[in-house]
Amino acid sequence: MSAANGAAVRAMFDNAKQSPFRTCQWPFGDPQNEEEFHYCGAPTLAPHSYCARHVEMAYRDPDEEREAAREAERAAA
Ligand SMILES: [Zn+2]
Repeated sequence: MSAANGAAVRAMFDNAKQSPFRTCQWPFGDPQNEEEFHYCGAPTLAPHSYCARHVEMAYRDPDEEREAAREAERAAA
């Protein structure tokens, strides 16, 4: 095995430990509507399948989310 192959195998192994996705799998639009539906596509934040922004959204406490929405409303008023 050449050194180049070794590096490729090592890269594959490193990737296998992370998310199988290289781009954010956060869905946008209606999955029934192929024209409208798409994934975020931003680079993922390992080991998640989402980008930094969507990891934050995916793992955020629902109560916290409600509070943040309320605060945003207050700030807008
Ligand atoms: Zn994303």
